[in-house]
Amino acid sequence: MSDDAHASQAHRRLIAERLRTGALPGYGGQRTFGGPGEGMPCACCDEPISRADVQYDVDHREAQQLAAAEQVRSLPMHLHCYRLWVEESSHCSDRGQPGHPGQP
Ligand SMILES: [Zn+2]
Repeated sequence: MSDDAHASQAHRRLIAERLRTGALPGYGGQRTFGGPGEGMPCACCDEPISRADVQYDVDHREAQQLAAAEQVRSLPMHLHCYRLWVEESSHCSDRGQPGHPGQP
């Protein structure tokens, strides 16, 4: 149980960090599709989503300033990462600030 709590704590921190730096978009009612994992790396924790796991695909639209064209990025996530992402997104709703530019 404590291992699990540790893991999810680490995931939570990772996701919060990615939200802050803009590596992950904030949750905002994107369309989401659930399905079996396909071995893709999770957008939240970079670990592959195995077939034994549930994969959530989040359709993230990036409105381009120039054209009417919108880029739709699909973000695969573990189910538990998805939950943490939704939670953390609501915590940092003021994500207008560009994170830390010098980050590797
Ligand atoms: Zn994950």
